[in-house]
Amino acid sequence: MAKRFVIIGGGPAGNTAATYAARFGAEVTMIEKDLVGGAAHLRDCIPSKAMIATGGALGTINDAQRMGLTDVSATLDFDALRYRIDTIGKRLERSTTTLLESQGVTLLKGSGRMVGPHQVVAETANGPVEIDADVVLIATGSRPRIPEWAHVDGERMLTTRDAYPPATLPEHLIVIGSGVTGVEFVHMFKSFGSEVTLIVSRQQVLPLKDPEVAAALEADFLARGVHLLKGAKALSGTVSSDGVTIECTDGRVVRGSHALLAIGSLPNTDNLGLIEVGVELVDGYVKINHNCQSSLQHVYAAGDVSGKLPLSSVASLQGRKIAEHAMGLHVGPHRHIDYEKAASAIFTEPEIADVGLAEADAFAMGRKIRVTKVPFSANAKALIEDDSRGFVKIISDPATGVVLGGSIVGRHAAELIAVLALAVSAGLRVTDLHESLFVHPSMSEALTDAAE
Ligand SMILES: Cc1cc2nc3c(=O)[nH]c(=O)nc-3n(C[C@H](O)[C@H](O)[C@H](O)COP(=O)(O)OP(=O)(O)OC[C@H]3O[C@@H](n4cnc5c(N)ncnc54)[C@H](O)[C@@H]3O)c2cc1C
Repeated sequence: MAKRFVIIGGGPAGNTAATYAARFGAEVTMIEKDLVGGAAHLRDCIPSKAMIATGGALGTINDAQRMGLTDVSATLDFDALRYRIDTIGKRLERSTTTLLESQGVTLLKGSGRMVGPHQVVAETANGPVEIDADVVLIATGSRPRIPEWAHVDGERMLTTRDAYPPATLPEHLIVIGSGVTGVEFVHMFKSFGSEVTLIVSRQQVLPLKDPEVAAALEADFLARGVHLLKGAKALSGTVSSDGVTIECTDGRVVRGSHALLAIGSLPNTDNLGLIEVGVELVDGYVKINHNCQSSLQHVYAAGDVSGKLPLSSVASLQGRKIAEHAMGLHVGPHRHIDYEKAASAIFTEPEIADVGLAEADAFAMGRKIRVTKVPFSANAKALIEDDSRGFVKIISDPATGVVLGGSIVGRHAAELIAVLALAVSAGLRVTDLHESLFVHPSMSEALTDAAE
């Protein structure tokens, strides 16, 4: 009899696991209460990147004079933008659903929860459906964290999910939180023409990133007129008919037309029956081992709910690995995910991307490293594209030359980092990069230069 594989949550973690498990011969049921594709496709990654792309196009057109063009200008149409985001979401939902159906996955629309170690119930519009499972995957994702003081009304006090886009363009947006999500929203609304204030709880935006990388972004924000309120923590917020007032712990007060909370997320593990059936949670996240198994061997968790890196790419890879493991394929230790080697990007201008070991972390560990860095100002393609901001930095082992990590700040950084990600995961040496023949002119030539 085929293995019965039941998945709760249809985001990248759930739908990737479903596709692979079905391909490997499992009888798969996926329960999704909202939209197939998950928050990733419809509430977080994709809509935010679509808005950033529109802001980028607006900037390119309005700056076209610098490329030798005249009489070119554009204005933003929020309704058209909303339609665009909706269309992309629907297309992705359709393509994901088609893929799952073509693999024979049974899709149940409803809310799932465990009612026994091997039983899952889906509360559907037609009533509860109970399913017996040999394997269960919890892939329910996360939701924005809302502090107690914040009264989110979806109009003036917003979470990220209210901002695709909001009903009207904020005149003055206060962004609370200067991590990856916060700075992307700063960039996005600044490129739409809003006045933006960023509340930064520490002395550095992107507090977890390489200081040099963070400094490059800060310089860009300041040049574009973003107000940075450093060392300030939001303490309370008042919403009125014409705006929002945020008070900070140090007594500073900011007034804006809207405020957006970007202070992290919480795992969706409530009301799933997990503790009741014996699945251990840590701070609300499912505790998993290197195979993504919970404290019950046949119950796996993947994606944001697993408390590892909250990235869509990580969620998908976990989903595939779980399908392989549960179906008895590739269980050797070398197949475990090395989260330290995950590439990530921040879609600001300039873009920021990094992978592997960071310079500051190497110093903190007392580890000897070799750091090589080249600016894009010497790169022909960057000059052709009229944007030579940023740099490539490669961290390698001084004894062996093996690439340990790197950061890229600049145009197309999110694409260029793939080369370094491959080098890090395949254990390539700087000489391998330096002796590769890359296209000329291209931004990637900066990688061979930095690998000298
Ligand atoms: C603003 C923003 C931008 C982001 N941008 C990026 C990016 O550029 N790149 C990147 O890699 N990551 C990005 N992320 C992170 C990324 O969105 C998440 O890491 C990813 O969505 C996690 O996938 P998942 O499968 O765990 O969960 P989700 O995508 O959240 O999917 C979980 C699904 O489970 C469903 N669900 C929940 N509970 C139940 C239940 N009881 N029954 C049935 N269904 C249920 C939900 O409806 C949802 O569809 C971003 C996050 C945010 C907030």
